[in-house]
Amino acid sequence: MYYSTNGKAPAATLEKAVIRGLAEDRGLYMPERIPALPQEFYAHIQTMTFHEIACTVADALFGEDVPAADLHRIVEETLSFDCPVVPVTRSIGALELFHGPTLAFKDVGARFMARLLGHFTRNASDGRIIHVLVATSGDTGSAVANGFLGVPGVQVHVLYPKGKVSPIQECQFTTLGRNITALEVDGTFDDCQALVKNAFMDAELTERLRLTSANSINVARLLPQSFYYFHGYAQMKRLGLADQLVVCVPSGNFGNLCAALIAKRMGLPVKRYVAANNANDVFLEYLTTGTYTPRPSVPTLANAMDVGAPSNFDRILDLYGHDWEAVKADISGARCSDAEIRSTLSECLHKYGYQLDPHGACGFHAVWHRLSPGESVLLCETAHPAKFRQTVEEATGAPVALPERLAAFLQGEKQSVPMGRDYPAFRDYLSKLQ
Ligand SMILES: *Cc1c(COP(=O)(O)O)cnc(C)c1O
Repeated sequence: MYYSTNGKAPAATLEKAVIRGLAEDRGLYMPERIPALPQEFYAHIQTMTFHEIACTVADALFGEDVPAADLHRIVEETLSFDCPVVPVTRSIGALELFHGPTLAFKDVGARFMARLLGHFTRNASDGRIIHVLVATSGDTGSAVANGFLGVPGVQVHVLYPKGKVSPIQECQFTTLGRNITALEVDGTFDDCQALVKNAFMDAELTERLRLTSANSINVARLLPQSFYYFHGYAQMKRLGLADQLVVCVPSGNFGNLCAALIAKRMGLPVKRYVAANNANDVFLEYLTTGTYTPRPSVPTLANAMDVGAPSNFDRILDLYGHDWEAVKADISGARCSDAEIRSTLSECLHKYGYQLDPHGACGFHAVWHRLSPGESVLLCETAHPAKFRQTVEEATGAPVALPERLAAFLQGEKQSVPMGRDYPAFRDYLSKLQ
């Protein structure tokens, strides 16, 4: 079962937690029990494939909620790509999380959630379609749209601000068709978010339609990200670099770091964690002062981490029993300015021949020259550098090739539904759905 971090909502099954997203008391769902995996799993992990590792972890996390055959099929379909560790320096290995369809680590969570939702709706007695509403400023929309593409029983409606997402991002959710509809809102990202919120508060509508959101606080997006860390550990072990392993996670809403911390609770031998931030450093401030002061974000070159009020902060507090000393014992923080992002992109390429992206650069900057003797680092590379081509090319002076997968999106034909930013028009659109 899953409990709410606010403690005022009833415990929920996985199905309910996935469909609801947030608990009734607006808290975040957490698993009541985080099962430890047996020692023999860790003793042999370096001989296992990504699929085998992920199935073992998924059995432990979801095995009581989803029959094994269905769960293994969901894992199989989710992980249709690898997450290799590429050695960068003698002690730093980059875990490349960007080989999915939209070249972002969010692909795994979005694909897993889509299939899990498909599993639950297929088995639901009423056979009604689930409508997923997502407001996006760019990356979430592409990962969710691609993750849900072709999943039976689920329709996705992506709301995005007209003229305010990059052309590549726009292509990643407007060219898909099938069960994905893009709504081009004449307004800002905040307007898109307000439209989605209005729909969820519209009692008449939610009575008639099965609506859900696919934002990153959903347990079905969060928990599967722990697969990465077991797989990354296995590869570092193969390289002989797992004895004093530091895990560094470039963080925004702290979902990915949270999944990494859960992996340690399951017994993964990690010595310590580094949460790497850009100029949005409320977490670092919390670690240094003990006070958490969320505030509006500031724009940076690593824009997927421009978060001033990380939505998973409460989950981290919850995991450590709200004990500041305990949090500090396991996690250290770091901040990286735009100037440091630029110099790190350039130095890493020219010294080691490895092309970081601006988010990975925050992580590299946080650990490079800051290790104790004997330590090695598993560094999450969260996005492909081609997604931030201009920034990277300007910083390094070297060209970045556009991967075929991204180029293919640019060939597709854009299809979108124009939408005003006031609720009545959106309501009218929703009222025509079944
Ligand atoms: C979403 C994202 C992050 C931040 O991940 P969180 O789980 O929100 O901390 C970092 N880098 C990239 C490229 C992202 O898309």
